[in-house]
Amino acid sequence: MKDDEMIQILEYGLMEWGIVLNAEQRERFMRLTRWLMDWNKRMNLTNITEPERIAVEHYLDSVAPLAFGLLQGGMRVVDVGTGAGFPGLPLAILRPQASFTLVEATRKKTDYLRAVMAELGLTGVEVVWGRAETLAHQPEYRERFGVAIARALGALDVVLECTLPFVKVGGIAVAYKGPRVSGELAFGEKVAALLGGQIEKVHRFPLPQSDLQRTLVVVRKTTPTPPRFPRRAGLPEKRPLRLLRKGA
Ligand code: SAH
Repeated sequence: MKDDEMIQILEYGLMEWGIVLNAEQRERFMRLTRWLMDWNKRMNLTNITEPERIAVEHYLDSVAPLAFGLLQGGMRVVDVGTGAGFPGLPLAILRPQASFTLVEATRKKTDYLRAVMAELGLTGVEVVWGRAETLAHQPEYRERFGVAIARALGALDVVLECTLPFVKVGGIAVAYKGPRVSGELAFGEKVAALLGGQIEKVHRFPLPQSDLQRTLVVVRKTTPTPPRFPRRAGLPEKRPLRLLRKGA
């Protein structure tokens, strides 16, 4: 197993953002990689199977918000639809002072996440099995987080409906996107307003150690989300807000 190469690529990439790993973080990334690759043989966790690509497309991609100062220590962060723990786990490794809630609808994936967290000895990370549409209406989760993040959860309106209800007024939702996001920004602005937010910043950047382009859409929550959002499970995707007529 090419642990050293994987770590080297990760470290070179992080260097571009001024981030340096300590020994414990390096060890945690190595263990995480071994566990991900091992469990991935038995269940479908990720299509990315080479350690070098895991370093770039999972780890560097996940921690990109740190390059833009979007996540401070002591914050409460929710990762909605975390899958195999992205972007939440790499962020938790780099920001042990923040607390993370990883939300995932598939039971097998939350089983994996609980096992891997015990293996990594990560404290300050909570794994919750459930759907965003339900959890975001529970008082212990609704408008309780400084930051909500989501990667590969769907179009921007789906992402915003499933993240903004978790965010406190004054906090942010961060949508991880690929290179082509312009088409989504037009309706994103309207949908954000409907949910109590506004698009504050769109960061476009090259992913280090690759020729990939990425976008982070930062939405600031300015007013409480109306209680009818998120709509019931499945609706954000089936009847996306961008397609709803006014008053519907
Ligand atoms: N964020 C991860 C996984 C993306 S795939 C990554 O970028 O690698 C989307 C994941 O979100 C799946 O694991 C799916 O089970 C979960 N998911 C989709 N809709 C969800 C919802 N409404 N609530 C909670 N989890 C959801």
